Amino acid sequence: MAGRRESASVRYTRDYVRIPSVNPMRRTDLDPAITGERRYAEHLREQLRALGLDAQLVGDPARPSLVAEARVADAGETILVASHLDTVPVDGMQSDPFDPRVADGRIYGRGACDTKSGMAALVAALERVLAHKRLRRNLILVGEADEELGSTGVRDVLAHLGTQHPDWVIATEPTELRCVTRHKGIVHAELRASGVACHSSDPSRGKSAITALARALLALDELAAELGTRVDPNLGAATLSVGRIGGGSATNIVPDDAWLLLDRRCLPGEDDVSVRAELEGALAKHDLTDVRVEWCTLEKASLATPADDPSVLALQAALAEAGLETAPAGVAFGRLRPGLDRAGAHPRRVGRDRPGRDRQRNLRAPAQHPLSYVRLRLTARSASLRLRARLGTALASPSRCSAAASRRLGVTKVSHSFTQSHRGSPAGAGAG
Ligand SMILES: [Zn+2]
Repeated sequence: MAGRRESASVRYTRDYVRIPSVNPMRRTDLDPAITGERRYAEHLREQLRALGLDAQLVGDPARPSLVAEARVADAGETILVASHLDTVPVDGMQSDPFDPRVADGRIYGRGACDTKSGMAALVAALERVLAHKRLRRNLILVGEADEELGSTGVRDVLAHLGTQHPDWVIATEPTELRCVTRHKGIVHAELRASGVACHSSDPSRGKSAITALARALLALDELAAELGTRVDPNLGAATLSVGRIGGGSATNIVPDDAWLLLDRRCLPGEDDVSVRAELEGALAKHDLTDVRVEWCTLEKASLATPADDPSVLALQAALAEAGLETAPAGVAFGRLRPGLDRAGAHPRRVGRDRPGRDRQRNLRAPAQHPLSYVRLRLTARSASLRLRARLGTALASPSRCSAAASRRLGVTKVSHSFTQSHRGSPAGAGAG
């Protein structure tokens, strides 16, 4: 840092990292002093109010989300920019997670990568645009709570926005500065088998729900194999995985109840309705009348912004100008995500304060929005500054954006996941 002035985006990233906003992740062993989004949300609210935005906290007062709006007279379009407030926990971090350290052009600290740098870039860009009075679109800046687990914050924000629908959404996430236009969706479901209980000394008097469920499991296996042939060129195959199973009440009782929970990764075009029909079809095919689909819930909708959408072309142009990779991404998430639920498969790998680990984790992390990754560097020619410049241009130059195929607009189109998903599941298993 010696001799070099910190850019606003770096300064803000460090400010934000100092404010713990760990997602409690339904754990009971986390220190309340570091959990919850409230402190960070309040900090942002005051910062954005100082910039003249109408900023407020919405949703659960204990775990609020932030919505800040700037209106422009006669603006034809509304752009929504978003960056989630919560971070994953700090297990295993070797350095102080909340004392951001700068070294070798990187910032180390919890959330520096995912995704406080993203919020910092948004705020820094906005600050510059406002300072030059160049905001030409209505702007909604969102910081949503609980992205890492249940997405309650997005639901709160959507409820707050009501009928207000943005024309464009850009969300910051760690994507290695790639524009992500496609990702899989997630459906969770429970199958439940009923039987007739009796004492195990004479099983013929009862009917085992576990046996029925076991047959259903084989039917699911068959279905999963079929799904393996359903392949999206960018995202890979649709998948089905049974994650939990249970049933019965005692060893000496024929069980009258058994259940399983499954995770289905969906390709664009698939959703909870199609998945439920498919599951019921598989049960019917094998005449499994004692097994039913108890519930089937869309945890996250898939995203499929067409490759020739003007927003994608515009973002590609902006990336090219910045000397960055322009091909829309989706492949990495598609390959790495299935079955790698952050709450389950690799719970300990998330905390190490090392870029390689962070990158690993981020590649596994859900691409919930159309994304822009901001990796902060300290040099003036840094990617973050370039992206910030692009964001600034996007916010400032609607004429250059909307006319002539929106060449300069560094955003991508409204995300399906942001507008349609997050209905949530009663089981809320933490889609990730
Ligand atoms: Zn994130």
